[in-house]
Amino acid sequence: MKVIRNIKEMAEVAKKHRQRRKSIGLVPTMGALHEGHLSLIRQARRENVFVVVSIFVNPAQFGPKEDLKSYPRPFKNDLASCLKEGVDIIFYPKARQMYPEGYKTYVEVKNLSGLLCAKSRPGHFKGVATIVTKFFNIVQPDSAYFGQKDAQQAVIIKKMVKDLNIPVKIQVLPTVREKSGLAMSSRNLYLKKEERGRATALYEALYKAKNLINLGSKDCQAIITQMKNIMIRRGVTRIDYISIVDMENLLPIKKIKGKVLIALAVWIGKTRLIDNTIVRL
Ligand code: AMP
Repeated sequence: MKVIRNIKEMAEVAKKHRQRRKSIGLVPTMGALHEGHLSLIRQARRENVFVVVSIFVNPAQFGPKEDLKSYPRPFKNDLASCLKEGVDIIFYPKARQMYPEGYKTYVEVKNLSGLLCAKSRPGHFKGVATIVTKFFNIVQPDSAYFGQKDAQQAVIIKKMVKDLNIPVKIQVLPTVREKSGLAMSSRNLYLKKEERGRATALYEALYKAKNLINLGSKDCQAIITQMKNIMIRRGVTRIDYISIVDMENLLPIKKIKGKVLIALAVWIGKTRLIDNTIVRL
């Protein structure tokens, strides 16, 4: 395994493998790797000859009041995890390399970026779409692996790849959870013990929604109200949103029909947590 910090070197190594017709899998991450990330890496390992994991805390996707500075960066642990999983390259560029002085170009997927998380995180998905495009151009992978945990991100990346004719196969893998149901997230490291207990309310609310739908509930507002009640009962009072939306355009729907996304975001203490589930009727 090699750690590459330089864009040109990364591009050259990837090109060599492409010329030898070796399939390349890319797993973009911000590091602080957990089992959720590792599930993507393992899938990339199974499906490709050459696996690149990028570790980059992307300043362009953090708002001015967000946790860019405090975001966990346990690089030694990440290195050990990647080594264990048989990763070939960790691409670990510096922010100054990715966004040199005078940097001006951004990628924005219109409409999809104004909904759900984008309301309280303006500019976030523009930052994500931009960095993913840059990684795609540098590595030129055959496939790239993303988690369903960040549902809106997955929808936006798929749309971007389609609209811009980027020749990368996007794979979205299921959310990995702790035993308690809490979706794994690097930001879970911020949670105090008591907060971690309360955070299981997210899964509880999603589970309740699924059950209600299985029992025949179709009215989205009624389902959302029941989910809110669970949150409040469990002491999660700062709710950013609980939404039931169309899987493709992310617009709110009134009645459950076909494949829908139930997504939520809440604040627990100083930590913003997201989770979601897909329901098919
Ligand atoms: P991040 O490091 O948070 O930017 O995440 C990197 C990738 O890992 C993204 O595609 C996430 O959706 C994915 N990911 C994060 N948490 C999980 C999880 N619990 N299960 C599956 N994938 C995840």
